[in-house]
Amino acid sequence: MRESIQYLLDLQKLDDDLIARTEEFEAQPGLAAAAEQVREAVLAQGEAAKLALEAEELARRNAESAVRDAEALLQRLEGQQGQVKSNDAYRALLSEIEAAKNSISEQETAVLESMETIDAARQRKAQVDAEIAETTDRLDGEGREREERRQTLEKEISALRGSRDEVASKVESGLLARYEKISLRRRPAIVVLTGELCTGCRVGIPPQLYNQMLEGLSVVACQSCQRLLIADRWLKDEV
Ligand SMILES: [Zn+2]
Repeated sequence: MRESIQYLLDLQKLDDDLIARTEEFEAQPGLAAAAEQVREAVLAQGEAAKLALEAEELARRNAESAVRDAEALLQRLEGQQGQVKSNDAYRALLSEIEAAKNSISEQETAVLESMETIDAARQRKAQVDAEIAETTDRLDGEGREREERRQTLEKEISALRGSRDEVASKVESGLLARYEKISLRRRPAIVVLTGELCTGCRVGIPPQLYNQMLEGLSVVACQSCQRLLIADRWLKDEV
């Protein structure tokens, strides 16, 4: 009996390891997907910064083109000054010249302002590009580590399953069945006690049950949580 329980405790330890590694293994795809989202988010920022810079450069080219158009218009209007016949026509021409000059001034201001925003957009793009490089490097490294860990876990899980089956075969079948059944709902399923309190559920053990446990003739279950109870003293052969 004592040997069978010792194997059962070994089995529980193996199951703990197996559960922990299986959970870690199953979390891997989620971690990979989260990393992929981070990568996509930073790449999207890069694309946005690129488009913003392109839009600013286009605005600048448009403003420069507007300056050239207004300058051409001004030149043409100024050329007409000698051909005007009436005072009214002359005043109208002067007014058009004034408007063309204002337009040139406005578009030149727009070009200057555009140069400032282009500088800012360039800086922003350089900053985001650096972030992309840094993030991509980091994610690639983490991805490689994750893949190594995945392979390690796969091997460990397979080895643990083998050990588990071997140890389980040494546990008395009735006891094993009780353990498996409780295990599905509560872990640990078997608790080693140093006193008259179930460490699984913190409920006291009635004296009669406690004495039965010390005798170790059969494995007793906690009346509150159904966990299998083993006395530490009995395991150590002190009873
Ligand atoms: Zn209990």
